[in-house]
Amino acid sequence: MFLKPLNRIRKTLGFRLTAWYSGLFTLSTLALFGTAYMLLSSSLQRRDREAIQLKLKEYAAEYQLGGREAIARKIAFETTQMGKARFFVRVAGPDNQTLFFTSAKQWKDFDVVQLEKISVSATTQWVYLPAKDEDEDDILEIAVFHLPDGALLQVGTSTEGREDLLEEFGGAFAGVMIPVVVIGLAGGSFLAFRALRPLRGLITSLQSIVATGNLTARVPVADTGDELDELGLLFNGLLAKIGLLITGMQNSLDNVAHDLRTPMTRLRGIAEIALQAEERADLLREALGTCVEESERILAMVNTLMDISEAETGTMHLDVHPVNVLALLENVVELYRYVAEDKGIAVSVSARLELAISADRNRMQQVLANLLDNALKYTPRGGSVEVAASALGPQVIITVTDTGIGIPAEELAKIWDRLYRGDKSRSQRGLGLGLSLVKAIVQAHQGQVEVSNEIGQGAQFILHLPV
Ligand code: ADP
Repeated sequence: MFLKPLNRIRKTLGFRLTAWYSGLFTLSTLALFGTAYMLLSSSLQRRDREAIQLKLKEYAAEYQLGGREAIARKIAFETTQMGKARFFVRVAGPDNQTLFFTSAKQWKDFDVVQLEKISVSATTQWVYLPAKDEDEDDILEIAVFHLPDGALLQVGTSTEGREDLLEEFGGAFAGVMIPVVVIGLAGGSFLAFRALRPLRGLITSLQSIVATGNLTARVPVADTGDELDELGLLFNGLLAKIGLLITGMQNSLDNVAHDLRTPMTRLRGIAEIALQAEERADLLREALGTCVEESERILAMVNTLMDISEAETGTMHLDVHPVNVLALLENVVELYRYVAEDKGIAVSVSARLELAISADRNRMQQVLANLLDNALKYTPRGGSVEVAASALGPQVIITVTDTGIGIPAEELAKIWDRLYRGDKSRSQRGLGLGLSLVKAIVQAHQGQVEVSNEIGQGAQFILHLPV
């Protein structure tokens, strides 16, 4: 029953940060202690060994002067002076048989007879005799001196004092370790709490946004300039963008509903009138013809809207092949030849023969047809339209330039919006979707489209397409 909440806590970032912090804190303290312990241990050993070797030299000199008796005398003198024999001394024959050793009671923990069994070669400098009791860690650490008469002089001392000191050090450390772990845990949880406070604020704000769906809400930003601040700003940016997109979608939907309403109402009106004129076959035929026209208009609108959203979301299937640009332009101009002739507008095409792009031929044709259709629509009788292509670095630039009415400056940014129609264009047929489709298809080809305008000189649409 308690395991579930415990498991949840274990998975939280706060818990993991605390665990990491206190774990690292404890480990560093342990490493510090380990290093101090090793340094202390090795310096104590060095000190002991230096004292032993000094004593060894003294006893060796004594031995040269007066043999074993001189050593015994020196030991007796030192023992009375210091109250106890500090060093273990042994003299052995060339075969390591004991000739003499200090039998002071403080060496009773060691079986010194065993020393006869520890072989000593000419190069041996140290021998070690463990305590009789296997539970004891003490060792008799003995330095060896090869006397000139072939005998061996061994001087040593027990590591007991050293071990006691190190044990005390270890004990003191164990006592310190408990508060260290407590401090590590407390420090870790405090730091984790502090570090995660902005994140908790972020979570609370996002939870309320998810619960209420209120996209105008923003997460609080502390203005400290840290990463969490950046995250907060990014979230706010994202929320603003989502809000903008949703508003855009709502507007489009409103526009679509609005623009569909007129032809649908017209369709219904025509059908109603036709129903009343049931006797007149010619009226019925005319009404049906208008119905078909209106339905086609609605269908074209819906199809274009779907094409635009497919191109914008990247789901439009593009059948990309190398396409000769001059052939493409001539093809489109040919389609509009009669319209142009009818309006008395001269259309010219210019492009280098070898110019080619990788594109979906039909979609590109649709793009150019829309631009040419607009140019012819918005150019008065007697004007001219020029369709041209040229290479510019890794791009092919296609321009459609007319001598028509041009686009008012305040409308320039809006003409790419879905269903937008310029004020002066209302008299012309159109859905207000042509340029949205042009832009979406060009962008789906990794290209760009822009418009420039010289008042009174007409409009120029410029396509940048990658080769
Ligand atoms: P429409 O069906 O109205 O032509 P478009 O999306 O093709 O819709 O164009 C949007 C608006 O851009 C038009 O209503 C018109 O105001 C303006 N426009 C487009 N092409 C031209 C042009 N060649 N000359 C002047 N205005 C243009």
